[in-house]
Amino acid sequence: MALITKAIKGTQDILPENSGKQRFLENTLFEIADSFGFKEIRTPVFEHTELFQRGVGDTTDVVQKEMYTFDDKGGRSITLRPEGTAGAVRAFLEHGLFNEALPQKFCYLLNCYRYEKPQAGRWREFQQFGVEMLGTASPAADAEVISLANEIFSFLGIENIELQLNSIGCPTCRQKYHEALKEYFNGHKEELCGTCLERLEKNPMRILDCKSPVCKEISAGSPLIIDYLCDECAEHFDSVKKYLDNMGIKYTVNPRIVRGLDYYTRTVFEFVSNDIGAQGTVCGGGRYDGLVEELGGPKVPALGFGMGTGRLQLVMQGQGIELPDDKGCDIYLAPMDADASLEAMRMVTDLRSSGIKAQTDVVGRSLKAQMKYADKIGAKYTVVLGSDELANKAATVKNMSTGEKTELSLEDFEDNFMRLTINDETAQLADGIDGNVNLADLFGNLT
Ligand code: ATP
Ligand code: MG
Repeated sequence: MALITKAIKGTQDILPENSGKQRFLENTLFEIADSFGFKEIRTPVFEHTELFQRGVGDTTDVVQKEMYTFDDKGGRSITLRPEGTAGAVRAFLEHGLFNEALPQKFCYLLNCYRYEKPQAGRWREFQQFGVEMLGTASPAADAEVISLANEIFSFLGIENIELQLNSIGCPTCRQKYHEALKEYFNGHKEELCGTCLERLEKNPMRILDCKSPVCKEISAGSPLIIDYLCDECAEHFDSVKKYLDNMGIKYTVNPRIVRGLDYYTRTVFEFVSNDIGAQGTVCGGGRYDGLVEELGGPKVPALGFGMGTGRLQLVMQGQGIELPDDKGCDIYLAPMDADASLEAMRMVTDLRSSGIKAQTDVVGRSLKAQMKYADKIGAKYTVVLGSDELANKAATVKNMSTGEKTELSLEDFEDNFMRLTINDETAQLADGIDGNVNLADLFGNLT
């Protein structure tokens, strides 16, 4: 029975007290992506299992160990998406978007599902913000996608996050590299884990991404892909770096990055924070020039990234960055009796129609209890309505932060109230910045 009141391991609830911050973060991500010309795409939470086997790669940890796969009642194998790229590319193909103006630029915010060991920064249901750009092989595109991720971190005020960059080449460079890897790992066959022994035959590069400590240690001495790049890939990588240098985006080349998904080619990158322990990769991405074709489409070079918003928030918490939290009540109307309650309910309707966040008593509380409640929900203004106010058609509105009281006519109350708040805000601005400035004040249009 206890199961009913316990969420599934590795999942999280976002309670109303935090959802305002979450919403602000989500809006911010979309706004930034929008300024780069990336438009939202929404795809289903589940897809045919084969899409991920083909798209993510069936020798990856994600496909081999982490997917939530089940047969539906019609006997089809279905998988809850472990990432966003495969679904986005599937939609790109299904709707023939390769015939539209290229590049197509998508962004998305979605819940992903991976059966992993839950720990700090690692959940079984987690949210990813991602972007995909399809239809360009140019290194300028790599720089644009990386600079978008970079912009998110700098807008949010995140520091000490390192951009690590690598190139893992194309199938041509990989042929030679795979041989070198096979030779190297063959010398360590006895020590490798069972999964990696299989990978040694099918896809030796995957061993480099194994989480087992022994395999990790062996991998640390393996040959590096960057030493095997063909001329075109080396040139491409140099050009990406040149763009980044010119844009003032700092990076370090980490020749050990291979990424956990099979579809990557050429540029791969991670944004890593040392502030949140072992799960320090907040954002990972790269180029996947072969994926569209692999999924049965035309040859369309593409790239993207995925950013875990949960890890992003851990980094912000660690650095003491507070997201604005709009408690969401501009004015609270406190009726003193039944007649006033009737009138208050009518008034909040008008206020809300004018875009004002208004609340009133729906419990039948005493005036004192109502004021306590108004304080708890962070009402910016309060107004008490009794028989006198109704008779005089006027009431006193109290600014809860300054204590200032203003008498307003109840005729067209919403207009009068709006004028009052505009006056107060102008006065506050004229007083200069009062130390309460936060992201929401600066970018009010985002909330
Ligand atoms: P890791 O090496 O940490 O397992 P990954 O290579 O599997 O990461 P990607 O598939 O590239 O991760 O996913 C992109 C981003 O999604 C990661 O950088 C991370 O921020 C986030 N992410 C991935 N798996 C999880 C998870 N289980 N819980 C929370 N966030 C995750
Ligand atoms: Mg992983």
